[in-house]
Amino acid sequence: MRQLEKSAAPDSLKENAERWTARYLESGQRTRPWAIDAIKQALASETAGKCAYCEAKMLAVSYGDIEHFRPKRIFPELVVEWANLTLACSRCNQAKGAKWDPALPFVNPYEDAIQEHLSFLGPLVFGVSDRGDYTLNELELNDSHRVEARDRTLREIEGLLRRYESSQGYTRDRLGELIDLQMQSGDFTAAVLTYVRTRKAAINLSGPQTANTM
Ligand SMILES: [Zn+2]
Repeated sequence: MRQLEKSAAPDSLKENAERWTARYLESGQRTRPWAIDAIKQALASETAGKCAYCEAKMLAVSYGDIEHFRPKRIFPELVVEWANLTLACSRCNQAKGAKWDPALPFVNPYEDAIQEHLSFLGPLVFGVSDRGDYTLNELELNDSHRVEARDRTLREIEGLLRRYESSQGYTRDRLGELIDLQMQSGDFTAAVLTYVRTRKAAINLSGPQTANTM
């Protein structure tokens, strides 16, 4: 999980939110006013097409599931509240379901300082607060599927870093761009950034001859 910033709500949502919410409540929560392309696309650009919780990259064609941070079953009046919407992969979405404990809310990637709740070491995630522990456990952020996927991504970035360090000129520049891209919008950014930072610190500690390789 990494920090996300809320963008401006799509115009169609701003114009229709009240009407859509009223219809949703009147219909006994049977309509799906959030499931429109403008909403999905705006959320996909906020999250770089990744799950807001586990940061798995999702297929561009599906955009994953629209996720209600405060569950719509408990907070039906927030069904198209822009600040309550994000994207999640189906694993996180299903694991989170309608769970809501006001005393221990899930870590919110838009509102909370992630590092106060979760830390990353290699492919693993650790809770550093009660809310971090709760989020980690409920969303199963260290299940084998996700740990293996994060591990694969870290191996790829390590491969790129090694090639970067041993190359020069144009190739080195291109590899540098690839590494930047992976750090900004690839999957598992939180784990990747921590890995690269830790590795860079280790290189700097190892001596001045390799201090400026990144
Ligand atoms: Zn996820």
